[in-house]
Amino acid sequence: MNPRLIAPCGMNCALCSKYLAWLAHPGRPAVCEGCRAKDKRCSALKTACRRLRNHEVEFCFECADFPCDRLERLDRRSREQYGMSMINNLRRIRANGMAWFLEEQERRWRCTRCGGTVCVHTGRCSSCNTGHTRGR
Ligand code: SF4
Ligand code: SF4
Ligand SMILES: [Zn+2]
Repeated sequence: MNPRLIAPCGMNCALCSKYLAWLAHPGRPAVCEGCRAKDKRCSALKTACRRLRNHEVEFCFECADFPCDRLERLDRRSREQYGMSMINNLRRIRANGMAWFLEEQERRWRCTRCGGTVCVHTGRCSSCNTGHTRGR
């Protein structure tokens, strides 16, 4: 797990289906190198938030309005669809530090069969394709 793959919104891009597709096939369209790699500012927060666009905060938890309505909406969708809360991620990073969070992510999203990374979007290991429920 890599700190540069933790997006300002708390998403761990290392678990994203588009990032895992980029790892496997970097040249293909519709893949993604991660939010910070090309200053991408993914999804709903990308164009909407001036503070993120202007690099005023590195993570949303540094913002006076954290968690703002936009982030709350994004978080609700992520919890409902994928069982993962970015706001909860951000609170754990703030409370325990990045090194602790990365270790926790490593344990939580490691495939018990082969040690590969389980995708948050598909629930499947990106290496051996085993389905997982535990990490979600
Ligand atoms: S699509 Fe979004 S969540 Fe996925 S890797 Fe890119 S920036 Fe990260
Ligand atoms: S919490 Fe702050 S920095 Fe993050 S999207 Fe909301 S307004 Fe922008
Ligand atoms: Zn596996």
